[in-house]
Amino acid sequence: MSEPVPYLDLRAQMKPLRAELDAAIARTLDHCSFCLGPDVAQFEKDFAQFCDAKFALGFNSGTSALHVAMRLLNVGPGDEVITTPYTFIATSWAISYCGATPVYVDIDDATFNLDPKLLEKAITPRTKAVLPVHLYGQPFDVDAISAICRKHKLPFVEDAAQAHGAKYQGRTIGTFGAVSCFSFYPAKNLGACGEGGALVTNDVSLAARAKSLREHGSTVRYHHDEVGYNYRLEGIQGAVLGVKLKHLEAWTRGRQRVAARYAELLAHTPLKLPTVTAGNESAWHLYTVRSPRRDELKKHLDANGIGNAVHYPMPLHLQKAYAHLGYKAGDFPVSEQASREVLSLPMFPELTDAQIQRVATVVKDFFRV
Ligand SMILES: *Cc1c(COP(=O)(O)O)cnc(C)c1O
Repeated sequence: MSEPVPYLDLRAQMKPLRAELDAAIARTLDHCSFCLGPDVAQFEKDFAQFCDAKFALGFNSGTSALHVAMRLLNVGPGDEVITTPYTFIATSWAISYCGATPVYVDIDDATFNLDPKLLEKAITPRTKAVLPVHLYGQPFDVDAISAICRKHKLPFVEDAAQAHGAKYQGRTIGTFGAVSCFSFYPAKNLGACGEGGALVTNDVSLAARAKSLREHGSTVRYHHDEVGYNYRLEGIQGAVLGVKLKHLEAWTRGRQRVAARYAELLAHTPLKLPTVTAGNESAWHLYTVRSPRRDELKKHLDANGIGNAVHYPMPLHLQKAYAHLGYKAGDFPVSEQASREVLSLPMFPELTDAQIQRVATVVKDFFRV
């Protein structure tokens, strides 16, 4: 019996960093700045530089950063925000938390990202903003979406929770929209030892307001200018993220290596493999293949100890939480078909070539090729 291959192996990531992380956390324990503080401030500077952005602000999750992004654009009750139904639910929560309505637009079959060809038709006088996602680490069509947004004088926000360091036509994602939001959930490309997120922008006034909203709507202690939140990033997470950020580029190269190897080894299977739009670089958060026989393939991988996951089994317009929006099956056929066909294979920088080959062998065995 061959060794099982885990879907994700965070222990493999921790091992070489353990001494450095222990020391960084110990420093935080010594200086006792547990909410924001110098470790977060340093990480914010470093992460802004990583994104080629002027400002990065630490948040206690990607979801809270997205919520504040919507507040920055004054999204409120009666407003519509156009987004994709094919993403993690938190993208839509940010809109709902403001009392606004998510309006979905189907995805492009090749990239799983919001299809710009369908965007303009969804714009109404109530549309306040557009919220596309760089899904699985692959940049969305920034030029097409920016052009439509410019024409209709609408701001857009990048949900970059899966795409740290991805490149669109040579430029790192994160400053194309008014604001972009990242997640540092442990399984993301850059993960905290707990929850974390960031809001990135080049706009000085948006950055100042985001800073205030993150801390109870306050710039002067105990004076509150608007209803805010406790969305601060913890000091210990800032220290951890500072250590890990130094490795992010190497990890992304590791992910690219894994993706290239899968592409080679799985080329002659009936699977539809992920593609990256010419001129772009995916951050390869996930390696997601497609097959009409997904459920059988999943069982086969499970039975052979190959980790796998479905991202995502149900598009957002069909979720119970959004039943009141009145969508029905068939409204977004591309998203619905993707949700029936996708399967994510093990994808993390520490995967060895032997592990990748083992995954490929089990997949090929399923198709008998
Ligand atoms: C992970 C994720 C989020 C939410 O981030 P959290 O840090 O878990 O709150 C939002 N959008 C997408 C696309 C994500 O993958």
